[in-house]
Amino acid sequence: MKPTGTIPAGYEGRDGKLLIAGADVERHIDAAGDTPLFVYDLARVRAQVASFRAAMPAGVSLHYAMKANPWPPLLTAMIGMVDGIDVASAGELAVALECGASADHVSFAGPGKRDRELRAAILAGATLNLESEGEAARALAIAADVGLTPRLAVRVNPDFDLRGSGMKMGGGAKPFGVDADRAAALVRGIVAAGADYRGLHIFAGSQALDPLAIADAQASALGLAARVTRESGAVPPLVNLGGGFGIPYFPGETPLDVTVVGDALAGALAARDDGLADTRFAIELGRWLVGEAGVYLTRIVDRKVSHGETFLVTDGGLHHQLAASGNFGTVVRRNYPVAVATQFGAAAVETASIVGCLCTPLDRLADRVALPHADVGDVVALFMAGAYGATASPMAFLGHPAPLQRLVDGDSAKPLE
Ligand SMILES: *Cc1c(COP(=O)(O)O)cnc(C)c1O
Repeated sequence: MKPTGTIPAGYEGRDGKLLIAGADVERHIDAAGDTPLFVYDLARVRAQVASFRAAMPAGVSLHYAMKANPWPPLLTAMIGMVDGIDVASAGELAVALECGASADHVSFAGPGKRDRELRAAILAGATLNLESEGEAARALAIAADVGLTPRLAVRVNPDFDLRGSGMKMGGGAKPFGVDADRAAALVRGIVAAGADYRGLHIFAGSQALDPLAIADAQASALGLAARVTRESGAVPPLVNLGGGFGIPYFPGETPLDVTVVGDALAGALAARDDGLADTRFAIELGRWLVGEAGVYLTRIVDRKVSHGETFLVTDGGLHHQLAASGNFGTVVRRNYPVAVATQFGAAAVETASIVGCLCTPLDRLADRVALPHADVGDVVALFMAGAYGATASPMAFLGHPAPLQRLVDGDSAKPLE
């Protein structure tokens, strides 16, 4: 038997069925029409936003990195709750604008921006977070061609990393941003070229659960921003301090204490270099905002035994939940929080593995976990499914249908999509 991550606080059962936003899973599945189904509870997202606002110093903006979950009904709701949307492609830019984001609150980071993507962002008036000197030159040439002043920020590859992060995005050789010691020259170059200089973007990593590690990275980002400001002579209107707030997926992990991050940031901002006195600050988050708000529901279609091991075979799988299968950015395969949603709260009586419907041994959603006796027709719930689900999984692999999705809002259980 192997342990699973902890089911997020607040999930309860009624008559043995898991409740999501006050309605039981069979009601959600009936309303959506089938499984597999992602259910997102907006009330949980709103609670995360509120705890961010309560913990962070006043004036620190909150951006949503929409690659975590770009589903338009959810994104539309996010746009109303946060101060900016971070996109990573012209496709995401188009979706953000269609969902009502205003271009002056959209920034576009990401390596490999094609000329037509740079052009789309410049025409829309979104901020480009430049990833290289070459990208800066292309953006300036395109802006001249279309006769607009581009809004440009510089993404700096930090000379530090985020300790304990699941995915390191800074420290050493990276395809993201320009190295810290070349950032000032690039800032001077774009200012001299007449661009509307929007500031600096410093992202050091993802999925950290240690608040002191995040606080250290933010303090280092502030120091780096001050250095680039001093060396370039250009005051950044905004410094995006990155994000990296993690959520507890695995056994033994606990939620991040954001009040510790906020208190440390308040101290670091109060002590910041005079060169940044007039600068505003932002934090960009993806999974921390939406991850816990999502549950993936998949129905058991077969129960079988092989060499003494019980397999519960579901209609879902890694084509919707690559991360839960352990094949997205993790080295050791560990179990997400999981439950039999139609026997919620029942005592565990056996050890079984929950697998998906794909013909590959990689498609294992839970590995040898303790469960109540579950059979064909029972529904499995995978928690922490609100971020990096369907759009971060190989949805076309094996030609199964896309999952259904449903947005509800707390106990009103009113479908919003
Ligand atoms: C992916 C990404 C994020 C969001 O990461 P999470 O771990 O989901 O918070 C934020 N900023 C940048 C630059 C990213 O690439």
